[in-house]
Amino acid sequence: MPVIVTGDDYLQSVRDRGTTLYMFGERIEEPADHPIIQPSINALKATYDLAIDEPELATAYSPIIDARVNRFLHVAESPQDLMDKHAMQRRLGQLTGTCFQRCTGLDTISVLHSATYDVDAKHGTSYHQRYLRFLAEAQRHNILIAVGMTDPKGDRGKPPHQQADPDLFLHVSGRNEHGVFLRGAKAHMTGGWNQHWICVVPTMNLGEADKDYAVVGIVPADAEGITYVYGRQASDTRALEPGTIDKGNAKFGGQEVLVHFDDVFVPWEHVMLDGETEFAQLLVSRFTAYHRASYVCKTGLGDVLTGAAAEIVDMNGVPGAAHIRDKLVEMVHLNETIYSSSIASAARATQLDSGIWMNDEMLSNVCKHNVTRFPYEIARLAQDLAGGIVATMPSEADLRSEEVGPLLERMLAGREDVPTEDRMRIIRLIENLTLGRNAVGYLTESLHGAGSPQGQRIQIWRGMDVELKKVLARKLAGIEESPT
Ligand SMILES: Cc1cc2nc3c(=O)[nH]c(=O)nc-3n(C[C@H](O)[C@H](O)[C@H](O)COP(=O)(O)OP(=O)(O)OC[C@H]3O[C@@H](n4cnc5c(N)ncnc54)[C@H](O)[C@@H]3O)c2cc1C
Repeated sequence: MPVIVTGDDYLQSVRDRGTTLYMFGERIEEPADHPIIQPSINALKATYDLAIDEPELATAYSPIIDARVNRFLHVAESPQDLMDKHAMQRRLGQLTGTCFQRCTGLDTISVLHSATYDVDAKHGTSYHQRYLRFLAEAQRHNILIAVGMTDPKGDRGKPPHQQADPDLFLHVSGRNEHGVFLRGAKAHMTGGWNQHWICVVPTMNLGEADKDYAVVGIVPADAEGITYVYGRQASDTRALEPGTIDKGNAKFGGQEVLVHFDDVFVPWEHVMLDGETEFAQLLVSRFTAYHRASYVCKTGLGDVLTGAAAEIVDMNGVPGAAHIRDKLVEMVHLNETIYSSSIASAARATQLDSGIWMNDEMLSNVCKHNVTRFPYEIARLAQDLAGGIVATMPSEADLRSEEVGPLLERMLAGREDVPTEDRMRIIRLIENLTLGRNAVGYLTESLHGAGSPQGQRIQIWRGMDVELKKVLARKLAGIEESPT
């Protein structure tokens, strides 16, 4: 493992790894230098730089190595730790305006702390010690861990062992005295290529017939047998064009990849579940308890979008109109509603047997469910305030052109003291977050990441104790309890 301190150290650490990554049907020799991939690397760099610029916010003391570590590698030892984590996530959302790709790793190492402890308690295995050794190394070296939970899943109506192709869910394809081999794929992996390790985790409840699918393993991102296929994002090829206006957010972007595992070897020391199927559901539900509150990061993007909407109405000369103020208030109301459910889930955290703390499941699910809806409304309001130009504006090349540039300078102007180029930049930022590359992170990831909306509704139904609510209603309505 490399030792990483700064964002630039991190950049060096992902170079020259000899990985196999495809984009547009071609193998990319050095992905770290590719203009479509660089914005996602910049977003991860920001997580290192913030730890230097704002150490109180982005680092924490870890008793595991008796030193301060990046907060993205710190497992929560109190509700306050979780609240600090959510504050950091919002800050990074504000700074990058995109998915900075490090939350899945933190949420997974958090789950594995308690899950490996619980599996050992039941089966006498030694997963927890393996986990602690890995985490100590990860903290010392300040490395990144991507997470593959979602399998391609094929026929959604069938469990893994009934799929026509057994590789539609990732599984153990062989074992020897040194470790296991993994075969299959993980889909939609956030920041999959640009991190140092990949942790694979089961995606759903598994039965005895799916024993080989109940595997947790951590592999280096450059392990032999891994192939990455880069996911397209709306307007991604604008990154190949000259200029910075049309990119909307030229510096930061997200990354999702399909990761194929062709009998990838994992030594026993990095295997943290192997066949204990009854723990698959626990892993998923604990992961979602953490991760659904981590979607608080979208409030940072919401802050950026609200700021952009307030800027454009200012530039358009109508900041004081009553309906405009009302729409900005609505954007903030929705954004802070997301924030409050996340912080509440941290404040109401519970301590698990292994000693660490986990967000309240109900409130974390409510947070994520808000996230599946409110950013769409916030985006709608931002487009309302920006006007149709958000979808029809000519390009930067036209602005720079000798023939039509002067015309655009005049015809795309707003208030006379605002440079036309500044107005264009704000419009492109709104386009970027609501229709373009970072709409992936702000909208579709908000909808499906950490599970589609129905996933939260199922968890809310499980936790909502409707019988208790019925008793409350019956009592006030004066209905006699029937003797049992
Ligand atoms: C931008 C982005 C980043 C992501 N990052 C990661 C990551 O880092 N790691 C990771 O592991 N995953 C990641 N995901 C994956 C995410 O968790 C999944 O998208 C989500 O769980 C939904 O799965 P799916 O996309 O396969 O949709 P599908 O399973 O195809 O779901 C589509 C619809 O069908 C419904 N449905 C599915 N199965 C059933 C069923 N059996 N019965 C009834 N209805 C059903 C769903 O509720 C949903 O409405 C990411 C997703 C996105 C969009």
